[in-house]
Amino acid sequence: MQFDYASAIAQRPSDAAVPEFYGKFTYKEAYQNGKATGAVIPDPKWAGANLVKVDLTRFKGFPPCGGQPSKTLWMHKFVAPVFEACMEEAAALGLLSELHEYNGCYVPRHMGWSPKRPLSCHSWGIAVDFDASTNPYGVSRFPISPAFVRHMEERGWIWGGRWTGSYADGMHFQFTDPIPGTKVPVWQDAKASVKKPVLPAQNRRLIIDGQVITQGRVVYHGVTIAVLEDGSAYLRPTTGEEQAGRVAQPPAPSGLSARVTLLNQAGVWEPFAGRAVYSGLMLNLDAKTGDLWIRQATPEELSRARA
Ligand SMILES: [Zn+2]
Repeated sequence: MQFDYASAIAQRPSDAAVPEFYGKFTYKEAYQNGKATGAVIPDPKWAGANLVKVDLTRFKGFPPCGGQPSKTLWMHKFVAPVFEACMEEAAALGLLSELHEYNGCYVPRHMGWSPKRPLSCHSWGIAVDFDASTNPYGVSRFPISPAFVRHMEERGWIWGGRWTGSYADGMHFQFTDPIPGTKVPVWQDAKASVKKPVLPAQNRRLIIDGQVITQGRVVYHGVTIAVLEDGSAYLRPTTGEEQAGRVAQPPAPSGLSARVTLLNQAGVWEPFAGRAVYSGLMLNLDAKTGDLWIRQATPEELSRARA
């Protein structure tokens, strides 16, 4: 069963709306030897009503905590389902084994442990930290698995490694909208829409009669050939209207992944691989590079295709 990331992402609050959305609580500053530690002591009633326990032992490869196997964490009840779905998928993809340590979720405290700053998302149990020892706060280095980061960002988590200067927080993932002004990668929230394809694994190149095209649409000997933004390419016979210049941008098939698709004679879109004649053209898809070579088929190739 597929988790409904789209709904979770659509409901996610902005950073500023976190107290409103995840619940306001009263708290006292924590002191040690007369000095504020940056931790806070919240009203326990809030935690009792809003936090749920997540079993970490079911996620294969989940990294240890303080040298010991991670067992459970407390998390906000609204975020736990999306976290569990992300961890399940990450485990299945082998991404959890790329992490070295888990460093906490629910910790009622100020941002950066500074009593002068607002409360951290950790105070609501809506943020998790991984690989803290190699990704200290305020340092823009991030030797953390890029594949894991992307996995989380696609599923609606905001990665602190996108923040700059003293805010840089490469260990940190929180479930809020991106902070306005923050640069987010193209794959951020990709799971928000199943129709919008995730970015290409490769940059598709069309090589038509030796000429290279990386994005856009061309009409070539009666075939309309297009490369979309996501790297997918489609080919279909050019319509009469298009030939007359009356259609500026013919509709592309929807819901396709980053691959090459042809409209066949039955009017059905079908994936293409290898080498074949199509509508009088010779197509050759290089499986290694993803390049699609196109030229007019020779009379010999045409007759062989018909045979
Ligand atoms: Zn954090």
